[in-house]
Amino acid sequence: MSRQPLNEPILAYAPGSTERGMIKVELERQMNEVIEIPCIINGEKIFTGITTNQVIPHNHKHIIAKVHLATEKEIKAACKSAVESQKDWIELGLEGRCAIFEKCAELLAGDWRMKVNAATMLNQSKTVYQAEIDAACELIDFWRFNCHYARGFHDYLQPLVSPPGVVNSTEIRPLEGFVLSITPFNFSSIAANLPSAPAIVGCTSVWKPSRNSYLSNYVLMELMMEAGLPPGVINFVPGSGAEITEIALSNEDFAGLHFTGSTATFQGLWQEIGHALPKLRSYPRIVGETGGKDFVVAHMDCDKNGLLVALLRGSFEYQGQKCSAASRAYIPKSVWNSISEDLCTEIRKIKMGDALDFSNFMTAVIDERSFNKITGYIDRAKESKTCEIIVGGEYDQDVGWFVEPTVIVTTDPMSETMVEEIFGPVLTVFVYEDEDFDNVLKICDESSSYALTGSIFANKEEDIQNAFNHLRFTAGNFYINDKPTGAVVAQQPFGGARASGTNDKAGGPLNLLRWISPRSIKRTMNIAQDWKYSFLE
Ligand code: NAD
Repeated sequence: MSRQPLNEPILAYAPGSTERGMIKVELERQMNEVIEIPCIINGEKIFTGITTNQVIPHNHKHIIAKVHLATEKEIKAACKSAVESQKDWIELGLEGRCAIFEKCAELLAGDWRMKVNAATMLNQSKTVYQAEIDAACELIDFWRFNCHYARGFHDYLQPLVSPPGVVNSTEIRPLEGFVLSITPFNFSSIAANLPSAPAIVGCTSVWKPSRNSYLSNYVLMELMMEAGLPPGVINFVPGSGAEITEIALSNEDFAGLHFTGSTATFQGLWQEIGHALPKLRSYPRIVGETGGKDFVVAHMDCDKNGLLVALLRGSFEYQGQKCSAASRAYIPKSVWNSISEDLCTEIRKIKMGDALDFSNFMTAVIDERSFNKITGYIDRAKESKTCEIIVGGEYDQDVGWFVEPTVIVTTDPMSETMVEEIFGPVLTVFVYEDEDFDNVLKICDESSSYALTGSIFANKEEDIQNAFNHLRFTAGNFYINDKPTGAVVAQQPFGGARASGTNDKAGGPLNLLRWISPRSIKRTMNIAQDWKYSFLE
C-alpha cells in the first residue's frame, strides 16, 4: 500500500501574500492575450479553422480565446487514436500510469497553479478562492488520491485462496475500448478528472469539454501532456456534444460514458446508448453525476447564526452554480423570525462584480442562456401569489451576466423554485410551523426528484437522528450543522442518487472500480495427468 496522500492545503490569497501577487501578474498576462485552442488528437494540435470565441462571463465583450472545433473527421480520429493507444497504455502498468498523474499533481501544486487558477477565474468567472479550491486543490487531490486508491484495490482484489499446486491471481484490466468523457463547465477539477480517473486504471478517453470552459480545460490538457501523458491516451475534442456522441456511439469500441452535467442531458445520453447497444462490443459502463435541488432543513432548536452563514455561503458562493448549492430551505417560524432580517442585511453586503477585483464575493453567471433561465425564475416569482422576493431580484447583462443574490419566501413548498434546479444565486425558503418538523422532513424528501446534497441544522441528537433517518435517500451527501457544499476528495466522496446521478462517488475508490473489468487467472503447477476421478474406482 502506498503512503496515504494529504489534502492539498488551500492558499489564502490575503493582501500582501506572495500568491496574491503571483495570481495578479498571471491574470494580467492572460487578459492581454487571445489564444488559439486546437483539438488535441493523438498528441497533435489540430487547428480546424472552424472557430468559436470564448468570452469572459463578467466582461462578455472580452474574448480570451478562439477555439477550433472538431468536425466529423477529428472526432473519428479521436476515437481511433484512443483505441490504438490503449495497448501501450495498459502495458505501461499501474505504477507507470500513476507516475504520470502524480507528476500532474506536482505540476499543478507548483509552477502551473497560477496559470490554471487564472484561466478558471476568467473563463468560468470564479473568485480567486473559488478557483483555488476547485482548479488547484480539488484536482491535485483527485490525481493523488485516485492513484492511491487504485494501488489499494490492485492489492485488495487479489484472490484470498491459492490451494497447494495452484496460483490464483486477478489482473485488474481496464474496460476494453475508450471512455467518452463529457464534462461540465462549473468545475475545472471535474472536467480533468473525468477523462483522467479511467486513465489511471488503463482506459483511454475522448474528452468533450464544455463550451463554457474551453480555456481552463485546454490549459489542463497541456499540463497533462507536459507531465508525460502519452499521445492518444486522452484526446481533447471541443465541439458539438450531439455530434461527438453520435460518432462515438457508432464505434464498436465505445466502452463507457463518464459524464457530469444536467439531468436532462444525461437521460438523453443513456437512451442513445441503449439504442447503440447492439452494435457495441461490450456492455458500456455509464457513470453520470447530474443535477441537484439541495436543501437545508432547520429544527427550531438549532444554531441560528450558523444557519445564517450556511444559507449565505451555501446558496451564493460561485453564484449558486455548484451542483451542491443550497437552493431550498425549510425554516421554522420562530427561527425565521429571528434571522430573516439579519440574513437580508448580510446578503445586501455581498459585493458582486469582476473576478479581478478581490473584494467581490460573487461574479457573473456563466452565459446568456443561463442568465435568461435564472431571471425567468425570478420574474415568475415576482408574479406569483405564493412567492415574495425579500432580497435581490435584480439583474443586469450590459457588461457581464450579473444576477443579484436573491431570496424568495414561499407559502407553497411545491412552487417551482422549491423543486426545480435553477443553477443560479436564488434561494427559496418555506417557513413552517415550529411543531411541523416531521411533516417538513416528509415534504423535503418527496417534493423534488433530485437527491444530491442536503443539510440538517439541529442541536439535539434525537432531532438529528430523526432527520438522518427520514432523509436517508434524499441526499447522497448529507451534512449536519454545515452548508451542503464543499465536499472534499477523500473526506466526503461525492454523488447523489434519484435524478442526481448514478452515485459512483468521485473522490473515493468506488468511481475507479467502474472503469475496470478484471481477469481471474488460475495457474496450475501440478498439471493433471489422469482423467479418472478417485470416486470412479
Ligand atoms: P450540461 O448538461 O448543459 O452540459 C454538460 C456537458 O454535456 C457539456 O460538455 C455539454 O456540452 C454536454 N452536452 C450538452 N448536450 C449534449 C448532448 N445532447 N449530447 C452530448 N453532450 C451534450 O451541464 P452544464 O451546464 O455544463 O453543468 C451544469 C449541470 O451540471 C447542473 O445540472 C449541475 O447540477 C450539474 N453538475 C453535477 C455535478 C455532480 O457531481 N452531481 C457536478 C457538477 C455539475
